[in-house]
Amino acid sequence: MLRISARDFLFWKKKQLSKGGDQESLAFLLDSVGGISTKDQKFIGINPEGNLYLKKNLDFLESNWDNHLQKSYPIQYICGITFWRDLRLIVTNKVLIPRPETELIIDIVIKIFGKKSQKLFFTELGTGSGAISIALALEYPLWNGIATDIDQDALEIATKNYKNSSNQSNLKFFCGHWWTPLESFQGKLDLAISNPPYIPKIIYERLPKEVKNFEPKIALLGGDDGLKHIREIIQKAPLFLKEKGWLILENHFDQGEQVKKLLIENKFTSIEIVNDLSGIGRFTIGRYK
Ligand code: GLN
Repeated sequence: MLRISARDFLFWKKKQLSKGGDQESLAFLLDSVGGISTKDQKFIGINPEGNLYLKKNLDFLESNWDNHLQKSYPIQYICGITFWRDLRLIVTNKVLIPRPETELIIDIVIKIFGKKSQKLFFTELGTGSGAISIALALEYPLWNGIATDIDQDALEIATKNYKNSSNQSNLKFFCGHWWTPLESFQGKLDLAISNPPYIPKIIYERLPKEVKNFEPKIALLGGDDGLKHIREIIQKAPLFLKEKGWLILENHFDQGEQVKKLLIENKFTSIEIVNDLSGIGRFTIGRYK
């Protein structure tokens, strides 16, 4: 631990913020990398006579901060963690940083199945950091789930996140392309959920640099029209879902109607486009027959 006077620390902090960025991101860096809790950071502001103890020196923290400011390196990747619902998740550039708008997908499930549901079997296709599956496995300890991802590195992160968040063993991780790892579970799933890559090619090319230069392309790009993966997931879903099983998908802001059409073409019923908190038709849900 490195000791530093509160005065020197406050001076350093002011200098960092004068270069740009927001206070919250700097506080996050200081907490997760520097080892000064956000509570201590606040306290020192009103008690500048004390000392602080750092895990890393200020030069190291400054170079991380500069990386964030100059290269638009996402603060979550620099810190190696992010917060999603009530989970604290490890993230590296092998996984998408789970977005706040996706949090609502868990509330959709709760709305459909109720708070305490009987034993059900679910899958999440393309789990990335594991956020959705882990939240579901914790919310529903009686359920069993399989989270899949095509990337073994992502699955290792998701597995670590599950172990760090839960003592349960109701979630398993399988590697493979969409439904492929679930061959032996045909017709057995009550629920399939996915936030697949859905960004159309032209939009992907113009994404902000903090997304395009750092987050995995494989987790974002959905082919020319953005629907390549959604189409494949929907077309194969009837093979894997039980009768009346649910499919819940996240989609791009303007894809709701097209996803709805795909669901109708594949014999889904009870189809609904669900808005996110900004009023965007972010999720499309349906039941197989
Ligand atoms: N919502 C993410 C973004 O806008 C995209 C996630 C995805 O393609 N599934 O960056």
